[in-house]
Amino acid sequence: MSLIASGQEMRIAPVAEADRDALASLLIETVAANGSVGFMHPLPLAEAQAFWSQALASAARGERVVLGAWLGDVLVGTGTVVLAMAPSQPHRAELTKVMTAPSARGTGIGAALVAALEQAVRDAGKSLLTLDAAVIEGATAFYRRLGYHGVGDIPAYAYKPLGGLGATRLFWKSLDAREITTTSTADHAADEQWMQRALALADRAEREDDEIPVGALLVSAEGEVLGEGWNRNIGDHDPSAHAEIVAMREAGKRLGNHRLVGSTLYVTLEPCAMCAMAMVHARIARVVFAASDPKTGAAGSVFDLLADPRHNHRVEVRGGVLAEEASRRLTNYFRAKRGRPLL
Ligand SMILES: [Zn+2]
Repeated sequence: MSLIASGQEMRIAPVAEADRDALASLLIETVAANGSVGFMHPLPLAEAQAFWSQALASAARGERVVLGAWLGDVLVGTGTVVLAMAPSQPHRAELTKVMTAPSARGTGIGAALVAALEQAVRDAGKSLLTLDAAVIEGATAFYRRLGYHGVGDIPAYAYKPLGGLGATRLFWKSLDAREITTTSTADHAADEQWMQRALALADRAEREDDEIPVGALLVSAEGEVLGEGWNRNIGDHDPSAHAEIVAMREAGKRLGNHRLVGSTLYVTLEPCAMCAMAMVHARIARVVFAASDPKTGAAGSVFDLLADPRHNHRVEVRGGVLAEEASRRLTNYFRAKRGRPLL
């Protein structure tokens, strides 16, 4: 986080021959931290360098795309898609060797890397991505949040770098824009926990600022809070200061990026059209809201902007999470304004 906070810009681009040694260091560091990327610890430098020399030669032949992620001048992440597949699978690519430096965890770099790799797959005219990931909390949840379907675990699949056999989960994702994604495999209990936190933010809107009690927070694919907000229209004299916008602004500043790829936005009231479009622009992966808004809701009630197939980015939506608690707050806020008894 401190790297981002110091204002260094994140950059994602194909790696070059000159990046080989930085890639080798990142690989050695990942393996030493027990990251399952095909190697055992300790990984000799020469072996790591030889691996990347071959991978770079393969990339030069167009068989794969190897991307790097930099914070300032420092390489902090990498990921590969293998494009060369059997003749019967011209539409498939394999995601592999995705790793981020421990110093850059929780910055959204992992999700941004995967999004850039998916774009490389689309650019190559392919539509199906597959991958395998070690079954450890974090790795599998990360891909699930990015819309990958887990299709089962293979026990005792590979040795972990520090020893001991571990299971692997196979994942797939269709990049075909016409396919309607129904990736509601996300953990519903986690949704309720995050929504409780959004409700607490809604309480603060009313208690501290006498604003309409709507709260929102943005959570990264890695499960970290990137931004929080509540309605500030009246206090800030700002028609755009809805809870969702406030949370997204904070997240953008924190990440140093206007794209909030792979994140989930929790909000206590169905988003309006303005907020929904901001979410599409920000490439937010998923929106979970509590109460529906039959007057201005843009997640299905009045408009259905988040799922509109005319956008090149679709946002997965889940509504009705702790809806009663959120509506009661709103109803009581307006009843109190009119001097009527609370519910
Ligand atoms: Zn709004």
